[in-house]
Amino acid sequence: MQNYTITKIVATLGPASCTKEKIRELLHAGVTMFRINSSHGDENFHKQNISYIREIEKEENTLIPVLLDLQGPKIRIGSLPAPIELKKGEVIKFRHQKELSGGIIPVDYKGMADDVCIGEQILIDDGKIRLEVTDVQNGIIYAEIQTDGLLKQRKGINIPGSTGSIEVLTQRDLEFVDFAVKNEIDYLGLSFVREAGDVVKLREILASKNSTARIISKIEKPQAVENIDEIIDVSDGIMVARGDLGIEINTEKVPIVQKTIIRKANQNRKAVIVATQMLESMIENAIPTRAETSDVANAILDGTDAIMLSGETAMGNYPVESAGMMKKIADEVEASRFLSRDKFPRQMIEAEQNSQAMAIGMSIADMTKKMDVKAVIALTGTGFTPISLSEGRLSAPIFACCPNSKIRRALKLYRGVYTLDLDFEPKIDTGALKTLNEFLIKEIGLVHGDTVIITGCLPNLLVGGTNFIKIHKIEA
Ligand code: PEP
Repeated sequence: MQNYTITKIVATLGPASCTKEKIRELLHAGVTMFRINSSHGDENFHKQNISYIREIEKEENTLIPVLLDLQGPKIRIGSLPAPIELKKGEVIKFRHQKELSGGIIPVDYKGMADDVCIGEQILIDDGKIRLEVTDVQNGIIYAEIQTDGLLKQRKGINIPGSTGSIEVLTQRDLEFVDFAVKNEIDYLGLSFVREAGDVVKLREILASKNSTARIISKIEKPQAVENIDEIIDVSDGIMVARGDLGIEINTEKVPIVQKTIIRKANQNRKAVIVATQMLESMIENAIPTRAETSDVANAILDGTDAIMLSGETAMGNYPVESAGMMKKIADEVEASRFLSRDKFPRQMIEAEQNSQAMAIGMSIADMTKKMDVKAVIALTGTGFTPISLSEGRLSAPIFACCPNSKIRRALKLYRGVYTLDLDFEPKIDTGALKTLNEFLIKEIGLVHGDTVIITGCLPNLLVGGTNFIKIHKIEA
């Protein structure tokens, strides 16, 4: 039987990975979900990538979820003909305009000159470049360079504490929401969320367009960290967006915030992604640093569902190798005794004392310790049963069997959850068991006599109604 990596890998598409062949290679290297970053590229570029993904899905007879990341109120440098060398001590000028003109660097946020004050810090490119505002006149910001650096176009700008008044969904985001709905995107990443109301606003817009796209709230502002419980409650998933988070709060606070968010998302059965700089040095080098390897491993041990590649796959020299490296690290961690298996988090068990789904999940986790179970088949209408099982960190892969292919596709983001990508009505009769046997033998390499556990809710796929466990022996 093939090895099923529990941890899911998200890869951002960009110039280094925007051909059909590269996308296929990334999929084969272990990528589960592709991320389209609306901050870069236009709709035609993204549309092309989405059609490659959908073609590959058909050719490979699989489902590939897509996350479209909305830029949100992120301020960015406009277009530059070439990178600009910045020298400590020099003063540079910024203004809201499209392109570099008269030596003034373009920024894409109209209100920036109104928002900044003299003495305030401006941080560019994930804080690599630091400036201090020395003057603001006629819409032009004058800032003294505090660190040498190379300023590249479209790089992000943070003014910690100063962007609180900008709307969470910009006009550009609203256009991309339309684009996402038209292109049946599975997940939308909502940037710079501050409170639950921001997520609710996007949910209402999606509902008004009859879209069931799921929302991943990106936690990258101090206000979001404060309001995390309410945000988790109304989100489908959470991203620990460490790039901006590490600028908006002090960088040394990020590891504990990461652990806290992952734990809370796990307890609430919400998908969680750890993002940014995971294998950053692989943008340039074929192997990561030891610290990066440890970072990926520790995110998995923290309990994340997915680990994400950004620049590594979007514009790095080793996109496929980066994805392959993440998979190797995940396989190594998952095979170790440090990842607790077949065990639900204690706080979750306490919180769900009278839950039938929890009782069944714990029994299955126990059974996988006492018997050689090769796979758990979860019959589901809404995704509830496989998502519940996912938190049990089962040592056997969970195959979600759901008649709705959109739900099946979205379920792939959850740790340990795979899907039965076949036309199979979730029921248990002789015909269904024969189809299941054939699929498991052909697709995952099970053999006659192997044991699987079937669970879910029968006779109807009721919401949250996990109500049975069946032990099934594969017959050739
Ligand atoms: C981040 O800030 O870590 C992040 C994932 O968002 P973006 O790549 O849009 O800056």
